[in-house]
Amino acid sequence: MNDVVLELREVSRVHGAGPTQVEALRSVSAQVYAGELVAVMGPSGSGKSTLLTLAGGLDQPSSGSVLVQDNALETLNQTRRARLRRTTIGYVFQDFNLIPALTAAENVALPRELDGERGRAARKAALSVLSEVGLGDLADRFPDELSGGQQQRVAIARAVVGNRRLILADEPTGALDTETGEDILRLLRARCDAGAAGVLVTHEARHAAWADRVVFLRDGRIVDQSRADRPDTLLEPEVTR
Ligand code: ADP
Ligand code: MG
Repeated sequence: MNDVVLELREVSRVHGAGPTQVEALRSVSAQVYAGELVAVMGPSGSGKSTLLTLAGGLDQPSSGSVLVQDNALETLNQTRRARLRRTTIGYVFQDFNLIPALTAAENVALPRELDGERGRAARKAALSVLSEVGLGDLADRFPDELSGGQQQRVAIARAVVGNRRLILADEPTGALDTETGEDILRLLRARCDAGAAGVLVTHEARHAAWADRVVFLRDGRIVDQSRADRPDTLLEPEVTR
């Protein structure tokens, strides 16, 4: 079996038209394998978030192709794409994006229920992944009854529930203190070690050190890649996990 989970083939994304047109991504090609965590770094405006939304099927390329587990997203109709997003792709936003009127467990169970799973089974899956992220006891709290770090852990639980194969995180530690940020990265790392493919957008080298590989973007292009198994690596040789 091909264990490439995410593949971008010469993906470009142009926003707007005419004089205000922005080429957010320019012919980017990349592959992310099962078990691998890839960090994406680059200056503000270099196209990191654009890359991630395209990978997650939340936006579509102007040209090129995005494949998730060999499904070219542009060939799927809206229903099938939405289904793939719910079953295969987990997305963690910088600002958590939890639904305030739902408890932690309900937030996490929601994608399963939307996918047709029955309420009780969805709750069971939610509770299991919430205990995995250390929030088993807080499952029935509402987001505003949780700290920022706890909310972000709920968001990660929601992104991985049901064993999704591709986890995309856009500066998921942005609003968190250092220690809580490390916890979030440890969780992502553990998911990838368990077989998921992960893409982490970050501006901190310290966070990128959790990744197997770092991709650098500038002006919408990949300008460099470092790998832990290459001598010119930018990763620290000893990464504490
Ligand atoms: P990053 O996440 O690296 O900061 P983005 O992917 O958000 O970069 O943005 C890349 C470029 O595309 C920037 O110049 C940004 O202003 C532009 N851009 C992003 N989204 C839109 C949009 N919806 N409409 C117009 N321009 C956009
Ligand atoms: Mg961004």
